[in-house]
Amino acid sequence: MKLIFVGPQGSGKGTQAKKVAEKFGLCHISTGDLLRGVTGDLKSEVDLVMSEGRLVGDDLIVKILKEKLSSEECEKGFILDGFPRNLAQVDMLKEISDIDKVVEISISDEESVKRVCGRRNCVKCGEIFNVYSKKPLIEGVCDSCGGELIQRKDDNETALRERLKVYHEETEEILNRYTSVKVDGNRSIEEVFGNIIEVLS
Ligand code: AMP
Repeated sequence: MKLIFVGPQGSGKGTQAKKVAEKFGLCHISTGDLLRGVTGDLKSEVDLVMSEGRLVGDDLIVKILKEKLSSEECEKGFILDGFPRNLAQVDMLKEISDIDKVVEISISDEESVKRVCGRRNCVKCGEIFNVYSKKPLIEGVCDSCGGELIQRKDDNETALRERLKVYHEETEEILNRYTSVKVDGNRSIEEVFGNIIEVLS
């Protein structure tokens, strides 16, 4: 299965992509996570672009993605989370792989702001908490592994508004290029997950 998950920031597409990938033995590819892992000469430039909520260059992201897709863990299929983000990336993806299904998870901008600005990520295991809706037992400490919880640099309202603008102006357009199924993201994680499994089968 080769899937793309599309949705505004905070729609839960990362969480759902992870769960669906686990269920079907697929490789979950978050381009945001891949970029956060960039080291060396490119790191400072990538960090700056991301912290301002802009998109990094298409060539760089495609190079990183190609490397990941050719790894053994992606042999059974994959879920792209955060890619493609504009029409140029859709065209570049066509050269690399075909796609079976596109799942759109929708929420309003106001819901996105509420969810994203309260988000806290574990630096060690990546588990995601929320200061409003999924508080850790001890403030700043991950329930799963004891790691430190931090707020991503781009999870503040200024950067988020920019990211939402890019989403509406560029990313939403990619939905015109695929046949997609829309899932309402304004529900519990398990309800949304159930709905995605339904539309995939
Ligand atoms: P995300 O974790 O998906 O919210 O992505 C965080 C940031 O990484 C975005 O705001 C962009 O700066 C960058 N990014 C992630 N995926 C892409 C992509 N496909 N193309 C360009 N920039 C990306």
